[in-house]
Amino acid sequence: MTTDGFPIQLFGNIELPDEADITLQKGGQGIGLYRTEFLYLGSDRDPTEEDHYEAYMTTIRSFGNHPITIRTVDLGADKFLHRDRWVKEPNPFLGLRSIRYCLNHLNLFKTQMRAILRASVHGNLKIMFPLITNILELRQAKWVLADVKEDLEEQKIPFNDSIPVGIMIETPAAAMTADDLADEVDFFSIGTNDLIQYTLAVDRANEHVASLYSPAHPAVLNLIRQVYQTAKRAKIDISLCGEMASETEFTPLLLGFGFTTLSLAPPRIPEIKKIIRSVSMSQCRRIARKALTFDTDKQTISYLRAQVQDILANVD
Ligand code: PEP
Ligand code: MG
Repeated sequence: MTTDGFPIQLFGNIELPDEADITLQKGGQGIGLYRTEFLYLGSDRDPTEEDHYEAYMTTIRSFGNHPITIRTVDLGADKFLHRDRWVKEPNPFLGLRSIRYCLNHLNLFKTQMRAILRASVHGNLKIMFPLITNILELRQAKWVLADVKEDLEEQKIPFNDSIPVGIMIETPAAAMTADDLADEVDFFSIGTNDLIQYTLAVDRANEHVASLYSPAHPAVLNLIRQVYQTAKRAKIDISLCGEMASETEFTPLLLGFGFTTLSLAPPRIPEIKKIIRSVSMSQCRRIARKALTFDTDKQTISYLRAQVQDILANVD
C-alpha cells in the first residue's frame, strides 16, 4: 500500500511451475505471467496435454485461489525450438512467432487450451494471448478456445466456462487499436519488453543497439499511458508485466500513470514493495506528469532515478 493508502498488487512472472513457491515466499499475490513456452524448451518432444495440466495444477496447488494468468505459448524469435520442424526465417522477430505460430499449429494450441480449461475448475486461472497485432487474430484465438470448450462439453469434462480472456499489448498496432481490442477481452497486460523493441525498431537481444533500447523513450511512455487510459475507459483490468515493472526507477512513474497491478520477476518483489510503501500516490502522479515533459530518455531516466533516491532517503 502507498503511504496515502492505495493498495497495489504485485504478481510474479514465472517460467517453471516450481517458481510459484518462490513468488509466494517473496510476497507475490499471484502469477501475472506464466511463460508456458518453457514447457517446450527444455525437452526434445512436445509436452502432452497431461504435461501441461500437471504444470498448471502444480502452480494452482501453490497458489490456492490467487489469480494465475497463463500465457499461451510464445514460441519463436528469442524462444525457439532446436528442432527440425522450425523453419528458418530472415527476420524471426517479425515472423511466425507467438500467437501466429499457434494459429498455424492448431493441434499444439488446442492441446494447451484443453489443459488450461481442465485445470480451470481447480483454481483462479486466466488465459492470455501474446503478440496480438490485429483483432482478427484475437477473434481466431477465441474461436479456437470456443471450439475446445465445445469438445470438453461433449466429453462431459468440467471447465470454467467464464474463464477470463486477455491479451498482451506488445506491439504499437495493439496499443493504437486498444479501444477496439478492449471490447473483446477481459483484461490487458502490457508486455513492455516487446513493446519497446517494436516501437523503437531495436532488437531486444542485440548488444550492438542495446543503448537505443529504452523504456523511457517518450514514444514508449506515451503508448503505455494511452493503453492504461483506454483500458480504464473500457472498464477492463490492466497490468504491466515487462521487465520495466522490476526496475525501481519506474515504480513511481507507473503508479503515477494509474497502474495498481504489476507483474515482475519474483526476486524483485521485495524491493519494489519497499518503494511502494515509501511513496504517496499524489507524489507518483506528480512524478509521472513531470517525466512526460522531457524529450530525451536520458533526461527522463536521470529525473526518475533522482526521485527514487529521494524517496528511499526518506525511509527510516
Ligand atoms: C514482454 O514482451 O514484455 C513480455 C513480458 O513477454 P516476453 O518477455 O516473454 O516476450
Ligand atoms: Mg513478449
